[in-house]
Amino acid sequence: MKSLKDIFPLLTEPKNIVITFHQKPDADAMGSGLGLYNFLIQFGHKVTVISPTNWAAFLNWMPGSKKVLDFEMQNEEAIKVLNKADWLFCLDFNVLSRTKNMEPVIKNLNCKKILIDHHQQPQTEVFDYGVSNTGKSSTAEMVFDFIISSGYEDKINTKVSECLYAGVMTDTGSFRFNSTSADVHKMVAKLKESGLNHSQVHENLFDNFLEGRFRFFGNTLLNRMEIFYEFNTALIAIPQKDLIKYNVKTGDTEGLVNFPLSIKGIKLAAVIIDRGDERKSSFRSKGGFDVNTFARKYFNGGGHFNAAGGKNKESLEEVVTRFKQAIKENEEQLNN
Ligand code: 5GP
Ligand code: MN
Repeated sequence: MKSLKDIFPLLTEPKNIVITFHQKPDADAMGSGLGLYNFLIQFGHKVTVISPTNWAAFLNWMPGSKKVLDFEMQNEEAIKVLNKADWLFCLDFNVLSRTKNMEPVIKNLNCKKILIDHHQQPQTEVFDYGVSNTGKSSTAEMVFDFIISSGYEDKINTKVSECLYAGVMTDTGSFRFNSTSADVHKMVAKLKESGLNHSQVHENLFDNFLEGRFRFFGNTLLNRMEIFYEFNTALIAIPQKDLIKYNVKTGDTEGLVNFPLSIKGIKLAAVIIDRGDERKSSFRSKGGFDVNTFARKYFNGGGHFNAAGGKNKESLEEVVTRFKQAIKENEEQLNN
């Protein structure tokens, strides 16, 4: 992978640019993608953001979100745009498989592929240019760094700021996690100077849910949560029938894993959801327990030290059994 610096001189030559990120994008994926979109369009490039799958409705306030293509729903159009691309920016993922059905299409493209990401063990051999830094709080912070080092910081307008703020704020747990460096706060100061209304972003992201989500949370915490105090661990396992009963939509389960993690003494919290085609898991830890390694070893996944996820094809019961076995095998680290 060559340095991002090598593309700075080319920024002023109009190009066809596609920006993508991981499937089921969160606010960092969508925020870094649309932050970059709102920056790049100012150079006269033709820029298209393509999401591998659908996304949560609470992201639809972001400037530019109305123009984002859903690769699954607008497949033909998305493939046409991808085939014309000169540059493809890949944001907030480390391995191409995180783009789901886009993976084979991306592999066959001849355009320049550019990675900006903060996950561990990136597949750097498939990218021409890029930066991977696990020390960074968020991909939004890395897009901000990209803009600053390009020398075009005057192009950070309110639209760019709102998107990047959404990414950095959510990926740092509202500036709570260890990854919240002094640089993160300096970045936010810069975004504020460009006219960012940060309260509005919080409201857009956190105060826009429908009642059903909270009824679902209520039922889940009451009936689907198991605590294993001997392993300082909490598990929530959600059968598909609950998703149907409460009309749970993409994004509605985000944040659920933080409830068991806030129980006194809990070091590892897990949510395993039966999504029908696969069992999707989310892991969060506090302190020294490495969920990236845990997710890789037992759940075909990965992520960061304190936040990771995975997916399995086995039944919910089988994945739960695997989880219980896994915490037994990790008893020593969980009791540290
Ligand atoms: P979440 O629990 O919010 O879905 O994901 C937490 C973190 O783990 C995110 O940084 C995400 O990129 C990563 N992650 C989630 N699912 C997977 C997966 O299936 N594979 C890999 N490699 N990483 C994942
Ligand atoms: Mn991220």
